[in-house]
Amino acid sequence: MAKSYNPRRAKLHRSYTVAEAAGLFGITRAAVRAWIKAGLPVVETSGPNLILGGDLQAFLTKRQVARLRKCPPGTIYCLRCREPRRPDPETIVLIALKPTSGNLRAQCPACDATLYRRVTMSKLDQAGFGGAARQAGGAAPS
Ligand SMILES: [Zn+2]
Repeated sequence: MAKSYNPRRAKLHRSYTVAEAAGLFGITRAAVRAWIKAGLPVVETSGPNLILGGDLQAFLTKRQVARLRKCPPGTIYCLRCREPRRPDPETIVLIALKPTSGNLRAQCPACDATLYRRVTMSKLDQAGFGGAARQAGGAAPS
C-alpha cells in the first residue's frame, strides 16, 4: 500500500520544483515524477517545471480519500486488525453524547480490542446498529 503524506506540507501559494517537492516529503525525485505521471499537474516554464502547492495538496488529498474504506452496515473498523469487524451484539454500548449523535463502543470478536464508531442517532438503523439504540432506551427516534 502506498504511504500517506500530509498534503498540508505543501504551501498553497508556493510553487515547487520536482527536487523541492521531493525534499518536502522526504521522497526521491523519481517518486515525484511518478506522481506527475499519475496526474499531478505541472506548470511548464523555460526553466525546470514547477508544481503548484495547491495542485500538490489537491493531488495528495484526492489520493488519500480514494484509499478510505467505508465500513459495511453492522461493522466497526478495528484499528488493531485493520479490518471492519462485526462485533458481538452483547458487547455493543451506545453512549449518547448529544440528542442527535453519540459513540458506539464494542469489542472486536477477533482480537478483543475496543472498537469505537461515531454515529448519528437518526442513521443507527442504516448503520446496522438499530438494536444498540433500542438497548440504550429512548435515545433512538421512532
Ligand atoms: Zn480486532
